Amino acid sequence: MTPAKLPKPLDSVKSGAEMYGLIQELYPLCRSITGDGLRATLRRIGACIPLTLHEVPTGTRVFDWAVPKEWNIRDAWIKNDRGEKVVDFRRSNLHVLNYSVPVRATMTLAELRPRLFTLPAQPDWIPYRTSYYEETWGFCLSQRQLDALPDGNYEVVIDSTLADGHLTYGECLLRGTTRDEVLIFTHVCHPSLCNDNLSGVALAVALVQSLALRPRRYSYRFVFAPATIGSITWLSRNENRLAHIKHGLVLACLGDPGKLTYKKSRHDDAEIDRAAQHVLRHAGEHAILEFSPWGYDERQFGSPGINLPMGRLTRSPNGGFPEYHTSADNLDLVRPEALADSLARCLQIFDILEGNVCYRNTSPKGEPQLGRRGLYRKMGGFQDIPERQWAILWLLNLATGEHKLLDIAERAGLEFSLVRAAADDLLRCGLLALRPEPPLRGRRSKPAESAKVGTKGRARAPQHRRKTRTR
Ligand code: ZN
Repeated sequence: MTPAKLPKPLDSVKSGAEMYGLIQELYPLCRSITGDGLRATLRRIGACIPLTLHEVPTGTRVFDWAVPKEWNIRDAWIKNDRGEKVVDFRRSNLHVLNYSVPVRATMTLAELRPRLFTLPAQPDWIPYRTSYYEETWGFCLSQRQLDALPDGNYEVVIDSTLADGHLTYGECLLRGTTRDEVLIFTHVCHPSLCNDNLSGVALAVALVQSLALRPRRYSYRFVFAPATIGSITWLSRNENRLAHIKHGLVLACLGDPGKLTYKKSRHDDAEIDRAAQHVLRHAGEHAILEFSPWGYDERQFGSPGINLPMGRLTRSPNGGFPEYHTSADNLDLVRPEALADSLARCLQIFDILEGNVCYRNTSPKGEPQLGRRGLYRKMGGFQDIPERQWAILWLLNLATGEHKLLDIAERAGLEFSLVRAAADDLLRCGLLALRPEPPLRGRRSKPAESAKVGTKGRARAPQHRRKTRTR
């Protein structure tokens, strides 16, 4: 299903506004790691992109875990002795400790206090707290709300259910010309919080929509699932697919105005690591983090028995912004322009993965005569003459069939897109030819599998290039 048409230039204002619009729609839903809020979110995503929903029953063994009971909530409040709601789930779903068991009781403030969670350092914000694996209940409220509660009796109600049901996740596959896959994972389990995690959801949706319009040699598999138990569940049900996954990215916290942050995969120098670092370096201010078994679902994809080359892209990372896991992670924190920038950078990373192939100089003895082939004349028409010329000369020098395009761009100190455009020029005039890919460094596949990858590269490459030539 590779369309012949190349994508239109990305309209970043439109895409930023669309992503923000989806965040606005999803914001009120009370999500969790299971339940109807999660399902409603996935159905809304499914209205934007082709999404297959999977329901995994409670109790299903998933590696060392079991799918938990399903949690649903209808309402919750704390009422004072005048019958006034002093804490109301309908005003913010963060008010309930996520996964609280049902309760109906009347108790004194002293009895209630151990069940109340606040943020004294940020007295106007409601904290986000969960208790997925210990059956308990509680409320989260601002310190100011708590300070305003006089001694007395309070009615507490949590109208929830915790019962056998399902864990739901969604999956979308965009097929490329090969079975090699790029896996993109984003968690979808947080209630009314925008940057963590609705920005990742909106970005993944926009990525599907953008990639669907592009020619693809890779297949792209998007998984929208709850954090931790969701990625573990997906992995345990898809072990037979893992050999096809060549690159991966966990997306989260991509709508705040902070600088982009890439966290390297457990492999440390996987192709995705080099592609992401290349894009961020050329994009300006950014941060690179080393892999650690902490953070989001890169922990699961980078566990030793899985060990996928999967990095993580955020702007401000988890825990790296004061609003993290509080009611202040709201619609004011995320910005359409930050979402649009995140989308553009992700697409650049995937452009590198798509175009990172090996070429061979067909006229390697001395410099070929470029003017005769119209390449000097063509250079005259561009503002980036020196860089374009540099790119052509570096390509002719390093295109020995051993170096991938990203290696050449890095050696030349040039942006990948520029070197790619120069390679297209040289391909058109026959001075470059495609070469099968050499085995990747640090690849966990066996030598036999690497050889297979190389053969595939040779088979698919001419098709990929033909499209470029007919542009
Ligand atoms: Zn979180």
